[in-house]
Amino acid sequence: MERDYDVIVIGSGPGGEGAAMKCAKAGKRVALVESFFEVGGSCTHKGTIPSKALRQIIQRKPNWLKFQDADYQTLLRHSQTVIEAQVALRRGFYEGNEVEILAGLGRFLDPHTVEVLAASGQKRRYTAEAFFLATGSRPYRPTDVDFAHPRICDSDTILKLTETPRSLTIYGAGVIGCEYASIFRGLGMRVNLVNTRAQLLAFLDDEIIDALAYHLREMGVRVDHSEKYSRLEPHDDGVTLHLESNKVIHSDFLLWANGRTGNSDKLGLENLGIVPDGRGSVPVNENFQTAHPHVYAVGDLVGYPSLASAAYDQGRFAATHLTEGATEYTLVKDIPTGIYTIPEISSVGLNERELTDQKVPYEVGHAMFKHLARAQITGRTTGMLKILFHRETLQIVGIHCFGDNAAEIVHIGQAIMAQPGELNSLNYFIHTTFSYPTMAEAYRVAARNGLNRLG
Ligand SMILES: Cc1cc2nc3c(=O)[nH]c(=O)nc-3n(C[C@H](O)[C@H](O)[C@H](O)COP(=O)(O)OP(=O)(O)OC[C@H]3O[C@@H](n4cnc5c(N)ncnc54)[C@H](O)[C@@H]3O)c2cc1C
Repeated sequence: MERDYDVIVIGSGPGGEGAAMKCAKAGKRVALVESFFEVGGSCTHKGTIPSKALRQIIQRKPNWLKFQDADYQTLLRHSQTVIEAQVALRRGFYEGNEVEILAGLGRFLDPHTVEVLAASGQKRRYTAEAFFLATGSRPYRPTDVDFAHPRICDSDTILKLTETPRSLTIYGAGVIGCEYASIFRGLGMRVNLVNTRAQLLAFLDDEIIDALAYHLREMGVRVDHSEKYSRLEPHDDGVTLHLESNKVIHSDFLLWANGRTGNSDKLGLENLGIVPDGRGSVPVNENFQTAHPHVYAVGDLVGYPSLASAAYDQGRFAATHLTEGATEYTLVKDIPTGIYTIPEISSVGLNERELTDQKVPYEVGHAMFKHLARAQITGRTTGMLKILFHRETLQIVGIHCFGDNAAEIVHIGQAIMAQPGELNSLNYFIHTTFSYPTMAEAYRVAARNGLNRLG
C-alpha cells in the first residue's frame, strides 16, 4: 500500500529537526507535524533561547545591579528578536530540504496513521512507513498549585510577565531554577531559591557545586536547602510560600521550577499500546525505538538528559538507524553539560565522586582563571578548570569548569578526551602551544598542575 510519506516527524524542536533533516537528506519523503504556530519547539520559544538571550543582556553589563530599574518587557523584546532569527533559519531548513510542514496536533489512530488537528478544528489523516516522536516536555504542574493565578508562573509563563517583579521566589533548584535565579538576580530582583534537595545540582562535581552555591549567595540569592512546600498562598500583590519547616517566604511572584513532564498524553499512544512512565516519558531501546520498531522517540519525550544538544543528536542518531540500518553510539554518549548560571558551568565525563566510587586511580589538575592573563585582561577572573586523568595512563576521564565561557572551554578538552586509546592523553596539553593570552591556556596550566601532583 502506498503511504502518504516515508517518514512523519511529530514536533519541531531540536529532536524533530535532527530526525527530519537526516531523513530528508537520505532521500525520504518527510512531513513534520507541529502544533505550535511556528517551528523551533519549546527550545526556541520557551526554553533555551529566551533564557539564554535574557542572560546575555545581563552578561554584557559590567554591573548587574544597574538593571534595578530596567523594564522586564524591554528585555523580553530583545530575546524575541533572537527567537525570530532562529525560527526563520529553521523554517528555511525545512523548506530547503522539502520537508512538508503539517500544522496541528498530531495523534496516532493506528501504528501507521496520524490524525492532525489544525487550529481551525479541521482534521486530516496521514500515513507513513516510519515515525519520529519528538514532542518534548512541559513544566510539571501539581494540582494543589494555582497556576491560573497571575502571580504564580512556570518556566513557560514567566516569559509572559507584564510586570517587572521586585522579588521572586523560585521553587525547585534544578538547572532551570538555578539559571533563572542567576538571571533574575542579575536583573536586580530579590531572589529566594528554594531547593527540595540537600545540595544544588548533585550530579555535578562537588567542587563545582560548592562554587555555584558560594557564587549564588555572593550575588545575593537567598538559598534554602532540603525544603518542601506545605502551601502556596497567592494574593493580589504577591505570593506567600509556606514550607514544611514552618518558614514563610513572601515575594511579588513565584516561579515553579520543580520538574517536567513528557508531552506524551495527546499522542494517542494508547492506540499503539505504548505506556509512558509516571513522568510522561516514552520507553525506548538503545536505538530510540519504542515498542513498535518503526516508531522512534527522541529528546525530552524520552527523559534524561533533557538537553537541546542531546535531543538534536538523538534525532540524527535514530534517523541514521532508520535510513542506514545501523548507527554510531558515540553520537549520543558522553553528552557535555552546559549550565548557564552565573558563573557558567560545564562538564564532560566522570566527576571525582564517581571516580572514587569506581576506585579509578585518578589525579586532578587545576587552573584558576584569576591566574590567566586573558581573564585578568577581560576582568572575568571568577572560575576554574579542572582536568581529571588516570594516574598511570594519563588518559583524561573528566573535565569540569566554571566561569565565563565554561561551556565553550570544555569543548577543547572534550575533543582530546574523545580520541581513541593513547591519543586521549594529558600530554596533548603539555606538548601543544596555546596562543597567549587565551582561556584555552587553562588546559596547559591545569595539565602541568596535575603532572606536578604525580610527583
Ligand atoms: C528554561 C529552559 C532553559 C533551557 N536551557 C537549555 C540549555 O541552555 N541548553 C540545552 O541544551 N537545553 C536547555 N533546555 C532544555 C531544552 O529546551 C530541551 O531539552 C529541548 O527543547 C528538547 O527538545 P525536543 O526536540 O525534545 O522538544 P521541544 O523543543 O520541547 O519541542 C517539542 C515540540 O513538539 C510540539 N508538540 C508537542 N506535542 C505535539 C503534538 N502532539 N503534535 C504536534 N506537535 C507537538 C511542541 O509544540 C514543540 O514545538 C532548557 C529548557 C528550559 C525549559
